[in-house]
Amino acid sequence: MAIRDILTVPNPILKEVSKPVDQVTDETRALMDDMLETMYAAPGIGLAAVQIGVPLQVIVMDLAKDGEAPAPRYFVNPEILEDVEELKPYDEGCLSVPDVYESIDRPERVKLTYLDYNGERVTEWAEGLYAVCIQHEMDHLKGVVFIDYLSRLKRDRAIKKVQKAEKLKA
Ligand code: ZN
Repeated sequence: MAIRDILTVPNPILKEVSKPVDQVTDETRALMDDMLETMYAAPGIGLAAVQIGVPLQVIVMDLAKDGEAPAPRYFVNPEILEDVEELKPYDEGCLSVPDVYESIDRPERVKLTYLDYNGERVTEWAEGLYAVCIQHEMDHLKGVVFIDYLSRLKRDRAIKKVQKAEKLKA
């Protein structure tokens, strides 16, 4: 396993549309292992493969709270089958937009289907933080970052903040 670099806005790779995975193989699992390690090290609760520069439809997530045992989840080729009309706001953040948090409205429950770490199909409803996180991560697969929902002014301000922080790190 290896920790990979996480791309930050406005890196154009984050705008790429991710391709479906043909089959979940050892190579896919190695990618998921790296992604999980990278996410834990950041630390974060969700990561899409494109955020480490691999535009494939792969997501990792762990919503365990502090002090709880790790509970990694893996999603390959996820699709939303159904959602509800009720929207719920949540203060979202993103490893590709460090230190920026903004309230985003999303359907509070979604039904999704995906392949897991072993390539087995799972279909289930997600709600609460799980629903927020999977919709946020699936946006990455479409080349959408959460700040794209903000006004142009707020988005530009977020990007400038990230660029300034990156410059200080370099
Ligand atoms: Zn994100």
